[in-house]
Amino acid sequence: MSVANTHTKYDIIVIGAGVAGLSVAGFLSRGAKVAVLERESQPAYHSSGRSAAMFIESYENPIVSGLTSAGKVFFFSPPQEWCGETGQSTLVTPCGGLTAAGPGEANALQDYLRRWQPLCPDLVEISPAQCREKIPILKANWLQAAAYDPSWHAIDVHELLTVYQRGIKAGGGHVFTNCAVNKLTYNNRSWLVDTPRGVLVANLIVNAAGAWANRIAALAGTAEIPLTPMRRTAAIIPPVDDPAYQQWPLLHTLSEDLYFKPESPGLMICPQDETPTEPMDAYPMELDVAVAVARFTEITNHPVQRVLHQWAGLRTFARDRLPVVGFDPALSNFYWLAGQGGYGVQTSPGLAEVVSAEILNHTPHDPAISVQRF
Ligand SMILES: Cc1cc2nc3c(=O)[nH]c(=O)nc-3n(C[C@H](O)[C@H](O)[C@H](O)COP(=O)(O)OP(=O)(O)OC[C@H]3O[C@@H](n4cnc5c(N)ncnc54)[C@H](O)[C@@H]3O)c2cc1C
Repeated sequence: MSVANTHTKYDIIVIGAGVAGLSVAGFLSRGAKVAVLERESQPAYHSSGRSAAMFIESYENPIVSGLTSAGKVFFFSPPQEWCGETGQSTLVTPCGGLTAAGPGEANALQDYLRRWQPLCPDLVEISPAQCREKIPILKANWLQAAAYDPSWHAIDVHELLTVYQRGIKAGGGHVFTNCAVNKLTYNNRSWLVDTPRGVLVANLIVNAAGAWANRIAALAGTAEIPLTPMRRTAAIIPPVDDPAYQQWPLLHTLSEDLYFKPESPGLMICPQDETPTEPMDAYPMELDVAVAVARFTEITNHPVQRVLHQWAGLRTFARDRLPVVGFDPALSNFYWLAGQGGYGVQTSPGLAEVVSAEILNHTPHDPAISVQRF
């Protein structure tokens, strides 16, 4: 990573080198000189390095679904000039997704299908037997109904972030790590950004600080918005005694209390917890891991003897679970890109396109995701 010089001048400074900051900086670098400032010693140390790395169009709500779909072209065919010497990068691999309904949930599965099939034409109902062919460890007496969508993909997050960083470099921009923003001063139509590496200067700040977005707003002297970081826990359990398990789709319960998928060196399990917390270096609580294990053993025939690895990350939500985008109502040269909840990786190219189009070309964004709604 380059070293910042005191009073180095940029068009735009992006605060936070998670997937949000790196993606938007990549897109903005097509028309501006951009620096990304990251407090940690490496990009994606927080949420962006702790995700399940899934691309799912039937996720959260139709607006999030639209932003996810908008990034499809990028995921399937990233810009050649951002792909290194070969000119090619594989960012997504098909894995498919199962939605499993337990006792008493068969009608709710029909509601789920009615809700998502218009947006996800590949989503179909399958029989419990077909579902158990795909994942044989599911208990027959638990599984009542199921749906399958072959269009779910696993994202290679490391490669995705590499591609965005190549975009930043190609545009003459920089990513500075160990570079916490400690103070923001607006003076003479420029931002002075105090960091341990010196003072940087920019015309525009993009606030992509994830769970810390409101802390950055406070430094800039503008009002906080209602954003809540929520802890989510994940664990890896030992592999299943069947080599085919590595090709299993992700399975999530319709009741949203468990998902699991193959992840080296075993299976990743997640209790789909959402515990409000302060912005912090999140860590897993024993109870949440135990809940995931209990739920997994309740619906499968696979005993869990031990947990190999566990972690937690923060998913930061606005009340309506939509992203928060746009120029601050009080500070016109302070731009928000926050609140990406559990979909920040899969929406990153879609949102980066929206934000860069507004900043570089004055193309207005959808008012539904605007910071102005608060
Ligand atoms: C268990 C789990 C599973 C998930 N699964 C998925 C999934 O399958 N698909 C999906 O799309 N999303 C998923 N997500 C959500 C996704 O990870 C987040 O939406 C996304 O990573 C948010 O990115 P971000 O860049 O906003 O935040 P972050 O990655 O947290 O980046 C913000 C950065 O800002 C930096 N920062 C803060 N304050 C300062 C400062 N003062 N100075 C400098 N830098 C600062 C932080 O250090 C941090 O690196 C999951 C999340 C979790 C926890």
